[in-house]
Amino acid sequence: MTIKDLMHAFPDANIKENEPLSKYTYTRTGGPADALIFPKSKEEVQALVQWLNENDWPLTILGNASNLIVKDGGIRGATIILTDMNKISIQDNIIQVFTGARLIEVSKRAYEASLTGLEFACGIPGSVGGAVYMNAGAYGGEVREVIKKVTILTRDGELKEVANEDMDFDYRHSILQESDDIALEVIFELAPGDKDQIKEKMDELTYLRTSKQPLEYPSCGSVFKRPTGYFTGKLIQDAGLQGHTLGGAQVSKKHAGFIVNIDNATATDYIELIEHIKEVILEKDGVTLETEVKIIGEDLVPEENPGRVLINKAKSSLKSTFTKAPLADESLK
Ligand code: FAD
Repeated sequence: MTIKDLMHAFPDANIKENEPLSKYTYTRTGGPADALIFPKSKEEVQALVQWLNENDWPLTILGNASNLIVKDGGIRGATIILTDMNKISIQDNIIQVFTGARLIEVSKRAYEASLTGLEFACGIPGSVGGAVYMNAGAYGGEVREVIKKVTILTRDGELKEVANEDMDFDYRHSILQESDDIALEVIFELAPGDKDQIKEKMDELTYLRTSKQPLEYPSCGSVFKRPTGYFTGKLIQDAGLQGHTLGGAQVSKKHAGFIVNIDNATATDYIELIEHIKEVILEKDGVTLETEVKIIGEDLVPEENPGRVLINKAKSSLKSTFTKAPLADESLK
């Protein structure tokens, strides 16, 4: 089976062949997807998953690509990106969304409808599906507090409704991380609120975020989970790693928990810098840092990897032709 067979089976689908994922990832790094598919409905995702299973193709799911590093060799098989599946409907205090919708947009729509509960999410650049997968949260709030139920598609192609209490939500964790199922639709239950107060809260959190986070550079947000009893940023800062640079990737000078792409970084730069930080912190503090960001895809095979200089050259020549997804700070506007 080839990509042409996939295109033939789904003639109306939006499928891009050998598509560079650095166009979509928030770090602006990552190799190509063999086939990048942009479905528009639950039924389309279901039909695709069934076809891919029958034809024994591997499948990777992307939301808004704000919490992952795709390795420089890219992703083999099929990659479904859900960003075109983004409908949001509001009825009373219930918000029904397709999981490709951006959490920032849902938070904004909740404010417009005078609904409270999603203010904390006003600056989280992920999709709703990615937020469910990670139980995304900020400033004391987490999505698990406002999710009523999730429609998932199992990897066998079966649609199921899962209630909040069966999602195994925990700190940056949901059951999807074990089951590998795909979240397709979410029902949020919010409460009626005061529009001015909601706006005030969102403005306050946006100010905190823009003043503390390096949103002027590409990044994947906080790289590491918070280890019990410690603050990751402080550990990294105290280890003298702030500003440490590897290739084009740098431990942010503004927020040590972020790694920013300051100069055509590769995914390899990111991964090597992450490993370096982990080694230093383990040696210095005896703390094992665990990545929050997901690292996926394939390494470049050696014969395709004549050296970082060539990769960077190729990346910068491609860069000018790419249509860029919005940077994190643009998404706050
Ligand atoms: P992706 O990065 O596309 O994917 C992440 C993982 O989720 C992958 O394993 C993917 O397979 C899986 N996934 C995505 N969609 C689905 C789906 N529909 N079904 C099943 N699996 C899926 N996070 C926070 O929690 N709080 C913050 O305050 C925060 N601030 C950030 C600030 C910046 C500047 C950046 C760049 C990131 C920040 N993040 C934060 C991280 C990120 O935005 C969240 O983790 C978000 O929930 C990831 O969603 P995504 O759609 O981008 O997921």
